[in-house]
Amino acid sequence: MTEHVKIVIAGAGLAGLGLASRLRAAGETSFLVLEKEERVGGTWRDNTYPGAACDVPSHLYWFSFDEQPDWSHVYSPQAEILCHIERLVQRHHLARYIRCQTEVISADWNDVDSVWHLRLSSGAQIVARVFVGAWGQLNRPSFGSVQGQRDFAGTSFHSAQWRHDVSLQGKRIGVIGTGASAAQIVPQIVDAVRQLTLFHRSANYITPRMDRPYDPEERARFRAEPATLQASREAIYREYEDRVYQAMRRESAGAREEAEIARAHLESQIGDPELRRKLTPDYPIGCKRILVSDDFYPALTRPNLTLVTDRIDRIEAGGVRTDDGRLHAADVLIYATGFETLSFLGALEIRGRHSRSLREAWRDGPEAYLGMSVSGFPNFFMLYGPNTNLGHNSILAMLECQFGYVLQAVRRIAAQSGSALDLREEVMTTYNRALQARLAGSSWAGNCTSWYKTARGRITNNWPDTVDDYQQVTARFNPTEYEVIPRLS
Ligand code: NAP
Repeated sequence: MTEHVKIVIAGAGLAGLGLASRLRAAGETSFLVLEKEERVGGTWRDNTYPGAACDVPSHLYWFSFDEQPDWSHVYSPQAEILCHIERLVQRHHLARYIRCQTEVISADWNDVDSVWHLRLSSGAQIVARVFVGAWGQLNRPSFGSVQGQRDFAGTSFHSAQWRHDVSLQGKRIGVIGTGASAAQIVPQIVDAVRQLTLFHRSANYITPRMDRPYDPEERARFRAEPATLQASREAIYREYEDRVYQAMRRESAGAREEAEIARAHLESQIGDPELRRKLTPDYPIGCKRILVSDDFYPALTRPNLTLVTDRIDRIEAGGVRTDDGRLHAADVLIYATGFETLSFLGALEIRGRHSRSLREAWRDGPEAYLGMSVSGFPNFFMLYGPNTNLGHNSILAMLECQFGYVLQAVRRIAAQSGSALDLREEVMTTYNRALQARLAGSSWAGNCTSWYKTARGRITNNWPDTVDDYQQVTARFNPTEYEVIPRLS
């Protein structure tokens, strides 16, 4: 039997659940949140590795419409964030709108009926007027195209698929990658293992984290005086917008200042000049994500840790062979090699007007209007879509802008008795031309590889401006930018 619903949101992470709570607050009841996994939580459900925590302070890494005074630390650990996500579901009475273990495998726009036909992995179908993609950018593990992975005789797994059943105690561990995930994992495991070999391909800029617990009096004050919590949130937000944002602008004074902070941090934590040299990035600051850590560099000085900068040639039964011919023996291999971030679709097939495939439309790199709408795909909106990731501030602040925009779009669609809204192609083209021009002046355009850009250097993931700017451009849904397509049936 085919089910009919007004709005389907695919993905029950912070984006999907945040929108669901806003829809409910607006009085909407005809919607579903479909989640392919067994539980809600998105990236905070998947990444359970030791040390997993957010590198945006807790007060800003939460929704302004659902303020939480009780965070235990300045930077929240993963389990606490996941717990708050589950409580968000309870507080906003979302459970009855969520279906877990329900994966959308294809979405087809029906030109005649002006609706989306969604096919689920169970074989069932749902028909929806509005389809919202909320699956995010960092949910498909990448194993870094390392050769010979299947030849390994020990146990291996990805950082986002942590094997809690595998003890690392007293074993020889290989960790591939030194990004944000590895920087959190390595300090947590290094003292328990016999030998840790860290395969390091490029250095990162790392700035001090200065995490600390909130003491009971502070938390009581945040609870009793919401204005204190709001002031804390606002102070962090402004610091990111005004100072950290400058590091995202190529060759700016702010970028030089941030690089100086990172250099001083490296010098204060690493005494050995040779190790310091290996840990010094050879690209401008901001080009890759800036890491925040106080314990990664000290972990690298432990006697049982070897930093290997030779390239990996292949994985063999006994360990990792580097291109200098050496075999680095390992019992367990951990791939902290990041995510497939450039397709924005995973395995999902989306076909819009005249059966046009979104994958095909995006063959030169994904793009959208405001990261949400794609011409030719009516009544379809993405959350945390192309060019909405940040290097300097909280993604949740961007998501809140998107919730407001999608709510306005949904109201407009509802008011049009059966017609649909399709973004005008020229609006999308003009927008993306200007966006790419602004991105050319960003630090991400520098000479480095990163998960933000394609092999040809097109930046598909990041927003070039401030969150204030994004708020401004998304504040008002402008219907003239959309073509009204009448229902044919
Ligand atoms: P990542 O930043 O993409 O890092 C992947 C690492 O693996 C890089 O060091 C990369 O080296 C290395 N690598 C990939 N293939 C390799 C190969 N064949 N040989 C050797 N090294 C290889 O991934 P991530 O650390 O999982 O982080 C991804 C994003 O998730 C972060 O940027 C952040 O947005 C988010 N995240 C946030 C937090 C947090 O809030 N604290 C924590 C974890 C993740 P190259 O740099 O040379 O490519």
